Amino acid sequence: MTGAAAAPRDVAARATAGFRQRYGAEPAGRWAAPGRVNLIGEHTDYNDGFVLPFALPLRTVVAAAVRPDTCWTVWSELADDVVEFGPKEADEPGRVTGWAAYVAGVVWALRATGHAVPGARFAIASDVPVGSGLSSSAAIESAVLAALVELGGLDLPAARWPRLAQRAENEYVGAPTGIMDQSAVIRGRAGHALFLDCRTEEVEQIPFDLDSAGLAMLVIDSRAPHRHADGEYASRRKSCEEAARSLGVPALRDVRVTGLDAALGRLSNDETRRRVRHVVTEDQRVLDTVALLRAGRVRDIGPLLTGSHASMRDDFEITVPEVDTAVEAALAAGAYGARMTGGGFGGCVLALVDASSADAVAAAVTAAYADRGFAAPGTLTVLPATGATRLD
Ligand code: ADP
Ligand code: MG
Repeated sequence: MTGAAAAPRDVAARATAGFRQRYGAEPAGRWAAPGRVNLIGEHTDYNDGFVLPFALPLRTVVAAAVRPDTCWTVWSELADDVVEFGPKEADEPGRVTGWAAYVAGVVWALRATGHAVPGARFAIASDVPVGSGLSSSAAIESAVLAALVELGGLDLPAARWPRLAQRAENEYVGAPTGIMDQSAVIRGRAGHALFLDCRTEEVEQIPFDLDSAGLAMLVIDSRAPHRHADGEYASRRKSCEEAARSLGVPALRDVRVTGLDAALGRLSNDETRRRVRHVVTEDQRVLDTVALLRAGRVRDIGPLLTGSHASMRDDFEITVPEVDTAVEAALAAGAYGARMTGGGFGGCVLALVDASSADAVAAAVTAAYADRGFAAPGTLTVLPATGATRLD
């Protein structure tokens, strides 16, 4: 135990305490947004395909209040730093850099779409690990957005929030991400996964009630260093786009599994064929997962998760020894299915387990890591949680 002056452990209490300490006042409210993981559907987003993320019980909390002028002050426990910016900085992408750009980006995106954003003070605390692929970036954007919409009484229905938060990240921060993260973080619902069609941006809540089935999802942070992930991502994306052009379709989403063999027969390069096979079969695995979940057959999605991993390992070639070890060890310890989640070359692994055996599976993965001489993984047992919301 640390002394009485230690920060409170609860994330919302930390945000409030931070607000009081920095600004000597009470916040007007607290808004939370969670991290997310993708249950299945990897590298399908930029191929106009399907993804199925869900929101995590780990959250970023923003304690906030308006200020009388049109300026924004932001403190985060993560940087333990106060950043202030005005309309001039907010209106020009790139003027605010570093972590505060995620906040300035939201102000920019709101102002760019014609909203009168009130000046505000923010104090931010978070339980979402940064840079592990659990989307701490969408969490901070979405919590700030929720705060500003309510503090300013802005006329902005929640269905439009994901696009706006995505613009903040793409155009202000300069990180090229799809719409999945913000959709999951904003629209996620407890006991559900969010089925997202990346072409139409239609979403549907799919029952994913692990709890009543006696199941849980073990999230394993592989702690693998991201090796060349950006370049590898760009090269996968290029292969997919070139393959779609050769096949004369707008995107690989337009090749269905029933037409896969014919499509593969028209491609001469073996590597390209494997890339296409991953994307096309992965889209089908998302559809099959959705069908099983709709039928209440949660446990039966295990083989689809494991199949997704094999496809990422053998056809898309985006796994690394750490994540393969975590998947193999989880399956050997009784997981119903396991796969790497996220863009690849590290990040997290999901394992679908009986709630009662989650600790034993986590211990087995940790032991397998020790055998291979890898740095210990992080493990966390989760259920699908709620999206961005006001607290209290
Ligand atoms: P991921 O979204 O997978 O966690 P990203 O690289 O997309 O990783 O986003 C992480 C970045 O988002 C951090 O480096 C930081 O700049 C910003 N960020 C996220 N959460 C916070 C926070 N609570 N406080 C300050 N900055 C944050
Ligand atoms: Mg991110």
